Amino acid sequence: MPAIDFGRVKQIVKLGDVMALLGLTWTRQSRTFVRARCPLGCHEDKHACKFDGTTNLWYCHRCKTGGSALDLYCRVKHLTVFAAAVELCELLHRELPLLAAVPARKDRAVKDPETVLDTDA
Ligand SMILES: [Zn+2]
Repeated sequence: MPAIDFGRVKQIVKLGDVMALLGLTWTRQSRTFVRARCPLGCHEDKHACKFDGTTNLWYCHRCKTGGSALDLYCRVKHLTVFAAAVELCELLHRELPLLAAVPARKDRAVKDPETVLDTDA
């Protein structure tokens, strides 16, 4: 199976979409970001965590944890990055971005058996 282009996944999966999927409620703070309770449940402070729609990043000022929308989904759902990317693209009806196929590695040239065995020459 080809490798997932995680850089591209982080571009197409928006923080707002993941927050909605996770059922997070938030308070709008400005045109670009909202604040909410830590999605990891570190604290009851309703404004501990900042979710920035411009950078598509989140950060909890209590537990000092943050990252991309993909990271958020991984952490809350306890999934690997791979499983989270597959699941998110499926749920959000996005095509899973894959890296261009890497050409198969050529097998190392087998030394001529004559030269390998003929050590006395
Ligand atoms: Zn936190």
